[in-house]
Amino acid sequence: MTKGPLKVLYAATEVTPLAKTGGLADVAGSLPRALRALGLDIRIVLPRYKNIPGTYVTDFPVRLHGRWETAIVRETRLDPAPDQGRPAVPVYLIDNYRYFHRDELYGYPDDGERWAFFSRALLALGEKIDFIPDVLHLNDWQVGPAAAILRTEYRSQPLYAQTAAVLTVHNLEYQGLFGKDILGVLGLPTELFHPDGVEFYGQVNFLKAGLVFADSINTVSPTYAEEIRTPEFGQGLDRLLVKRAADLYGIINGIDDQFFNPATDPCVPFNYSASDFGPKRRNKAALQRELGLPENDVPVFGWVSRLVDQKGFDLLGKLGEDLLNRKLQLVVLGKGDPRYEGMLRDLKKRFPTKVGLHIGFNAPLAQRIYAGSDFFLMPSRFEPCGLGQLIGLRYGTIPVVRATGGLADTVIDCDQDQRHGNGLVFSHYGAEDFRAAVLRALALYAAPARLEALVGYGMRQDFSWGQSARGYVAMYRKTTEKVEKSTAGA
Ligand code: ADP
Repeated sequence: MTKGPLKVLYAATEVTPLAKTGGLADVAGSLPRALRALGLDIRIVLPRYKNIPGTYVTDFPVRLHGRWETAIVRETRLDPAPDQGRPAVPVYLIDNYRYFHRDELYGYPDDGERWAFFSRALLALGEKIDFIPDVLHLNDWQVGPAAAILRTEYRSQPLYAQTAAVLTVHNLEYQGLFGKDILGVLGLPTELFHPDGVEFYGQVNFLKAGLVFADSINTVSPTYAEEIRTPEFGQGLDRLLVKRAADLYGIINGIDDQFFNPATDPCVPFNYSASDFGPKRRNKAALQRELGLPENDVPVFGWVSRLVDQKGFDLLGKLGEDLLNRKLQLVVLGKGDPRYEGMLRDLKKRFPTKVGLHIGFNAPLAQRIYAGSDFFLMPSRFEPCGLGQLIGLRYGTIPVVRATGGLADTVIDCDQDQRHGNGLVFSHYGAEDFRAAVLRALALYAAPARLEALVGYGMRQDFSWGQSARGYVAMYRKTTEKVEKSTAGA
């Protein structure tokens, strides 16, 4: 049995507020704090992207394909909210000027080598800082290979014999595919290059390396954990996930309800709460002004998202004209696929008094959209968990979503279920069904008493980490017990 608090090294490539492109950062910035509050000795390891401040701790060489790269370790911490009295979470920043001092986090030709370096460095870190984890908690494809390196290289050392690896898949679509040569960079044996190992149609698949070698796999909602075992959602990995079903968990994400709090959010011009959400109307007017829209009393539909196929922007492409000829305004904040950026710019040009648009990543504006909109759009093709709908609910903005993944687990249709409904839900992915859901939103807006009851209900729901964090502790315990048993029997 493990003595003392469970030691967890939580490896992620983005952590709010230090570096963020999407939902992973929100999870990595809040779940570890919730777990620390439950008494775990959890620490985060993150690349040191340029400008993240941190105090020098140590440095060490990392062997990459017959040469050495230096990992400089700096330390910072995630402080708890002032009124929470929880301990801070240490964050180790792995610094390497060549790999991480760049403008963007992802999308470079040498990404395979960058994440190979980070995967090796985070494993070597433990001994350097005297923190051998009971659980190595890996997040997404970039650090998938660390599970394979742990199993093939570290587990045979007494110090790491009982370290368990957990892999959380935040989005199965992103897998990290590279040529076979990357195995040499990772320091993994070429014998692993076969379909039951890390090979995926002639390439090395970083996520698959994690899925095959992690002791437990987790994804971020119960529905997505089921969906990914089907060909429709499995992104070519469904058969492997069926094989690993006994070790596959689905734990719904929470949000940091201190950070996402309309009563205290410094980005929101007029703070408000579930007991008095009157000021929300003034936030709407401020948002309309900020984005150059007339301050009309029409429903405002907010959309804050990466602009990628997953999120359903093709539906807006089909419906834009139809919807924008109605009495409503659409406010979009996003960045991504140039096709969708162009489509949105075009809609803005054609409907300048109906469309508010900001192309780019802008966290404070996102908060003002959550606070100032009446409805929040998430017509996703698939959605592992989705945080936008949870933040929307917290800010009294009614989600309009497609029933898939975590959206199906968190949003209940208010026309179908009058008691528990908190949003508008459609099932089939298609323009007609999306349109019908938006029309139901317009009808709701025309019934203020019903709308207000729904706003208050959503704001009072609890989407904080409490219960899910306990789910993680249970998964960690089960996984360490399994590893202990298997090494005892070895
Ligand atoms: P995903 O992780 O697939 O991007 P989620 O809904 O899980 O989607 O999380 C998205 C997070 O990123 C939310 O906090 C959302 O507000 C934020 N976000 C997405 N795009 C932007 C943007 N352009 N500017 C600011 N925040 C954004």
